[in-house]
Amino acid sequence: MKKKVVPLLVATVLLATVAAGCGKNNDNTGGSGGDSNIGVAIYKFDDTFMTGVRNAIKDAATGKATVDIVDSQNSQPTQNDKVDLFISKKYDAIAINPVDRTAAGVIIDKAKKAKIPVVFFNREPLAEDMEKWDKVYYVGAKAEESGTMEGQLLVDYWKAHPEMDKNKDGVLQYIMLKGEPGHQDAELRTQYSVKAIEDAGIKVEKLAEDTAMWDRVKAQDKMATFLSAHGDKIEAVIANNDDMALGAIEALKAAGYFKDNKFLPVVGVDATAPALQALTDGTLLGTVLNDAKNQGAATLNLAAALAKGNTPNKGNSGYDITDGKFVWVPYKKITKDNMNDAK
Ligand code: BGC
Ligand code: CA
Repeated sequence: MKKKVVPLLVATVLLATVAAGCGKNNDNTGGSGGDSNIGVAIYKFDDTFMTGVRNAIKDAATGKATVDIVDSQNSQPTQNDKVDLFISKKYDAIAINPVDRTAAGVIIDKAKKAKIPVVFFNREPLAEDMEKWDKVYYVGAKAEESGTMEGQLLVDYWKAHPEMDKNKDGVLQYIMLKGEPGHQDAELRTQYSVKAIEDAGIKVEKLAEDTAMWDRVKAQDKMATFLSAHGDKIEAVIANNDDMALGAIEALKAAGYFKDNKFLPVVGVDATAPALQALTDGTLLGTVLNDAKNQGAATLNLAAALAKGNTPNKGNSGYDITDGKFVWVPYKKITKDNMNDAK
């Protein structure tokens, strides 16, 4: 008896999973056309920046390929299942935004076995994994560059506004809101933003640092805690992305900032629509354009070239390929003055 029940149960669960996979977690409404099928897995749909990249992939696919975009729901096992599904559907290429970038090796092994080229994006696989197969590509941006630019935004402000040094000790007391630990953008932006300030000859003192996992609500909570611990000692907030910068701004507003001449410089990265609004409002001091449009288009164009059996190059993808497998999309410093460059 037992033997019969178990397979039935397994079959039911499998069916349910497949049904769910074809339902609300898929996003294949756009980007149809062309005769190639490309499977795209996003680490989670509920991420402001990745939503921009996802829309850009869809737009770029129009007339070129049919894309099946799925939500990995921030779970690597879920993403691995999605990759298996792509392979079983015999897609011509896959584009993966890993949940855990160290899991890229496993995905490459599967893809290589099935001879399906893979383009990773936004979360950079380890160098040794990138070497595993010549049909593995990465589209991203140099994390160091965004960190440096973010630090420079504060350097510019410090130089133009001596009152930023509230306690007049010549040292910049700051709070760091970090993205997901281990993510190249979290580690390198944290490091390089501070380095840029020090390189400009400004001494720094870190009052507090914690991860808010790229998340606005988490950042608001952390910032409220930092405010009760350090209050007026805080002279700047550096956030690894705009969502966290905006969360910090919420907490600062609740503590009486951004009115009656009470200002605190907050910087972020991404230049998302709500961040641009905050620049207009005068709450966010500056951000760095993380170019979702070009990252999405490059990802799709590379995958489409590979799907047709071609080796991606500038001619068939529109982007320069570095070291045979990388597309690096440049960042740009954004303030109220050049906001239109980010639209
Ligand atoms: C962005 C973050 C985003 C993360 C997702 C980063 O490049 O700046 O906003 O949450 O990618 O992996
Ligand atoms: Ca100071």
